[in-house]
Amino acid sequence: METKQFKAESKRILDMMIHSIYTHHEIFLRELISNASDAIDKIYYKALTDESLTFDKDNYYIKVTADKEKRILKICDTGIGMSREELENNLGTIAKSGSLAFKNENELKDGYDIIGQFGVGFYSAFMVADTVTVISKALGSDEAYKWESKGADGYTISHCEKDAVGTDIILTIKENTEDENYDEFLEEYRLKDIIKKYSDFIRYPIKMDVTSSKLKEGSENEYEEIVEEKVINSMVPIWRKNKKELTQQDYDNFYAEKRYGFDKPLKSVHISVDGAVRYNAILYIPEKIPFDYYSPEFEKGLELYSSGVLIMNKCADLLPDYFSFVKGMVDSEDLSLNISREMLQHDRQLKLIAKNINKKIKSELQSLLKNEREKYVEFYNSFGRQLKFGVYSDFGTHKEELQDLLMFYSSIEKKLVTLEEYVSRMPEDQKYIYYAVGETNERIEKLPQTELVADKGYEILYFTDDIDEFAIKMIMSYQEKEFKSVSSGDLGIEAEETGKETAAEEAENKDLFEAMKAALGDKVKAVRVSKRLKSHPVCLTSDGEVSIEMEKVLNAMPNNQNVKADKVLEINVQHEVFQSLKAAFANDKEKLELYTSLLYNQALLIEGLPIEDPVEFTNNICKVMA
Ligand code: ADP
Repeated sequence: METKQFKAESKRILDMMIHSIYTHHEIFLRELISNASDAIDKIYYKALTDESLTFDKDNYYIKVTADKEKRILKICDTGIGMSREELENNLGTIAKSGSLAFKNENELKDGYDIIGQFGVGFYSAFMVADTVTVISKALGSDEAYKWESKGADGYTISHCEKDAVGTDIILTIKENTEDENYDEFLEEYRLKDIIKKYSDFIRYPIKMDVTSSKLKEGSENEYEEIVEEKVINSMVPIWRKNKKELTQQDYDNFYAEKRYGFDKPLKSVHISVDGAVRYNAILYIPEKIPFDYYSPEFEKGLELYSSGVLIMNKCADLLPDYFSFVKGMVDSEDLSLNISREMLQHDRQLKLIAKNINKKIKSELQSLLKNEREKYVEFYNSFGRQLKFGVYSDFGTHKEELQDLLMFYSSIEKKLVTLEEYVSRMPEDQKYIYYAVGETNERIEKLPQTELVADKGYEILYFTDDIDEFAIKMIMSYQEKEFKSVSSGDLGIEAEETGKETAAEEAENKDLFEAMKAALGDKVKAVRVSKRLKSHPVCLTSDGEVSIEMEKVLNAMPNNQNVKADKVLEINVQHEVFQSLKAAFANDKEKLELYTSLLYNQALLIEGLPIEDPVEFTNNICKVMA
């Protein structure tokens, strides 16, 4: 018989499975049972619309059987089965969903995360088995087929016999090695434990032949071993259980079982509502960003169940975009089972549930911030950006709701702080909430523009995310305090005296500044006396709504409209360099142009902007040195 090769990616995953990157081998059983349950679900759905099918619950189950002697473990289901083509397509290639877009080998090497993010479920069988055999008969077919593989070498498919529709997965369990015990996967008590632990809520019975000893009939001390078929799982879904009976471990297991993520969730929330609309929900705030979170392929949404039956994998209407990181499920008795996607959007019940959930997530995050700060910071480092997008999008509709969840790095605290914390610490004479924009905290720390504000002892919030300044412009003011960039024209700090002084200096050097402005052309809108510089000779600031940082962000966008900030070159008249400028202005116009160009380029560099002509710049430095 011809041995077929696995598709390239499948082979790599398979290699990883065989060399067991998962530390918990036992999860293979969870994966296979979950596939079996999905296969039964598929018949169930079909029966909803196909009149020729009836779904009699008693006929559908999963059975796990172990044979220690032969080292065989079987997982049989009465699900929809697979045709020859399906065996080939589903088991010859993994993750047909297309989501498996491995970018490069490196990513695969630490593929630990990747594995968890996709269901590579079936292949996990190779962690514990040398040979995996799948015998399946598809619904509506008279033929059965056998798929078999010993791992990396490929697989074979052949015709075979099977009476009932469904699938048998037959594993030949590996021999024990020095480090690994595989025998346990043939032990009744172990298998029972694993099923209880991971698959308790599966809606269909998971049966096993269980041995127990009983008193022999008519005897008082003689026992006999009897084997009975028993249902191992409680079949009550976790979300229907009483919160008091559940542990964090149960919620974590459910998260893993549902493949919501590979990380351990940061927070889980169990909701049972029995009001205008009845529903149960389990929501999770993940710890880590899913690798595709900020890609266009990412789909937000919660699983939606109607009376315990999954009706939609990702119901987007249940989550606002700014909470798109939330994972989990909702089950409601008040939703119709065969409701269509279009109708769902207008469903009043669903809207109510969504509103409720939104509130709940917000209050959960608030309590995390208040009571478990470290966890919140961890969350914020992963998903804070999304909250800031939320503030900015929809013309700021949600800003009130979200502003108290925001955090920014503080120049004084040297860690993330909330707006509320900032305002509560403001000295009485401080008028504004100050912020500075830059690529990194370290870079902002060195910005000359921060000097005056920092000197005053005022706290400055550091904006290092592209979105930060846009989000803040949307909020405008917090607790009646306006936000102010340290680079903006009027800082609201200068005492009246210095104000007069600057005006006098401005008047006195009017001609010099005009000459400098003329030398720079339309690169800047004006050259001015700086009120904010202390030790640095120059800096760039901007007039008007668009800041220099915003210009950078907007121009990096694909359909940029070439937005320009009105740049102002500020000169520190206390700096000794200013005397050289004055002298040059009086005696040597060419020198003034040279100095102006140098200073302008310096200001660009400090600001993290590219200088237009680096060669000219270095030549100019040489000129000055010579
Ligand atoms: P996933 O379950 O994430 O799709 P798997 O590798 O576990 O990935 O399974 C691949 C596909 O094989 C499934 O989507 C399903 O179509 C099919 N399959 C697996 N196990 C069974 C089964 N017991 N019965 C029917 N189909 C199955």
